[in-house]
Amino acid sequence: METYDVAVIGLGPIGAALSTLLARSGLRVAAFDAFDGPYSLPRATHLDGEALRIIQNVGASERLEPTLGIYTRMRFINADGDLLIDWPRSIEEGWQGWRDSNRFHQPALEASLRGAAEQYSDLDFYLGSRVDSISSDEDGVTFVATSQSRPAQTFRALYVVGCDGANSTVRAAIGSELRSLGKPEQWLVVDLIMNEDGPDLPEGTVQYCNPIRPITYIEAVGARRRWEVMLLPGDDAASFAEPDSVWSLLSPWVTSDDAEIERSVVYTFRSVVAQQWRRERLLLAGDATHQTPPFLGQGLCAGLRDTANLAWKLNWVIKGLADESLLDTYQSEMEPHVTAYILEANRIGAIIQERDAEKAHQRDETLRRSPQVLKSVRPLLGPGLAGDASEPAASLSAQPRLADGRRLDEAAPYGFILLCERGFTTAASPTLKDVWERTGLTVIEGEAAAWLESLGSKAAIIRPDRYILGVASDLTELEAITARIPLTLRDSLCN
Ligand SMILES: Cc1cc2nc3c(=O)[nH]c(=O)nc-3n(C[C@H](O)[C@H](O)[C@H](O)COP(=O)(O)OP(=O)(O)OC[C@H]3O[C@@H](n4cnc5c(N)ncnc54)[C@H](O)[C@@H]3O)c2cc1C
Repeated sequence: METYDVAVIGLGPIGAALSTLLARSGLRVAAFDAFDGPYSLPRATHLDGEALRIIQNVGASERLEPTLGIYTRMRFINADGDLLIDWPRSIEEGWQGWRDSNRFHQPALEASLRGAAEQYSDLDFYLGSRVDSISSDEDGVTFVATSQSRPAQTFRALYVVGCDGANSTVRAAIGSELRSLGKPEQWLVVDLIMNEDGPDLPEGTVQYCNPIRPITYIEAVGARRRWEVMLLPGDDAASFAEPDSVWSLLSPWVTSDDAEIERSVVYTFRSVVAQQWRRERLLLAGDATHQTPPFLGQGLCAGLRDTANLAWKLNWVIKGLADESLLDTYQSEMEPHVTAYILEANRIGAIIQERDAEKAHQRDETLRRSPQVLKSVRPLLGPGLAGDASEPAASLSAQPRLADGRRLDEAAPYGFILLCERGFTTAASPTLKDVWERTGLTVIEGEAAAWLESLGSKAAIIRPDRYILGVASDLTELEAITARIPLTLRDSLCN
């Protein structure tokens, strides 16, 4: 029987990113997907700067970068065509070392992630293999993979992570229910490939907040343009997605002479979070764990954050560097974090999806008076390694450029970083330095002074997922932060 450290079930974007982070940590990994290749149709169109930073740490950003588009703005327009909100985004490199908002084509991202994954000889792919019959015991997990070309095969792994999407088999094996955070809504999603001489269409994203029929328009990359159209009570989902219906709905913008329909399908936008992210040796990540309406463009971004939080913890537990209880901090840190994003998407969705004409009128007045209702969400991690330390602990670190022009994380891809003023660690004790060494922590001195100053500190320890473990102004404080590194074999100084 083939045995692995970790089996990743599902090789969508989240499974591909997680498998690569685990393999680059030196683990023996198997990745399974029911299909032979990545899903070829577009889904997500927006990636934030943090997501690109994670993709950079995965080792896939070089392949992806040439395919990215600039995201300029999101506008809200009412039924009379009046501009209610203009939410521009900077087109310059932002605080994450990437533009804060980016347009992209999900199949191009998945190809980039799989390309990065294929570099690792200790990462085996089982494509066209559906996994089921999953059972976890004290020492590991047994499961069966079935494919059309091979007889059913039984595998064993120390841990199994379900990255198997919304209808997750691993979530069912865990026995985890989904907690609802909002009412599901049906929306038609239409992707068009525009002809070269097609009409001029808006830049960025436009939310047409018309109570008669809310519609979202999205400038995707290349010749692709997306419309999302809310279904109303009485609409029949099957006939709504038919070409005649699509061209009629999109007639204010385009006709069938201007473009070809790449895909037209009705989705149910859900707001859900799994109640249990781990049972014994089974874990979840990505859409298997949480789903959000796409109004903030955060579903895939949230799944990538899961991978960054989880991969180094699994690596440490498997290698005996940390106690298995470290895995409990995965849900405790990430569930409140993703919940904040989903609730914000619901808040924006409620603005867009208002169907009552009088309430829509009141909404328009409110937005005209205070258009600052839209801003980027930056939640802290939930309870976990930061203990009772206050912000900036548990917040996302910046990724400044180093003096040599590299982005900060390039100095220690997916590793712990101690960023500090020059000479700050000179008097550090051998015990402290030993803990850093066993942590694989990279000390970077005399760089990113402006960012440290903005935190009001002289040193910061940054975790592999790029959240701040803690900040320090002297060596005593640095010892206290180092004590939060969850190493099992630690000297008494740090206990
Ligand atoms: C219309 C729309 C717009 C969106 N817009 C955005 C956006 O702008 N920004 C954003 O961040 N997100 C967006 N999203 C969300 C984003 O597309 C998803 O969050 C993302 O695709 C989830 O990735 P995943 O890897 O978790 O799951 P999936 O992509 O669903 O992959 C799951 C994989 O698991 C495999 N699998 C399932 N069961 C098994 C099994 N038993 N055995 C083996 N393999 C299995 C499947 O074949 C599949 O390849 C959008 C989604 C939609 C639908």
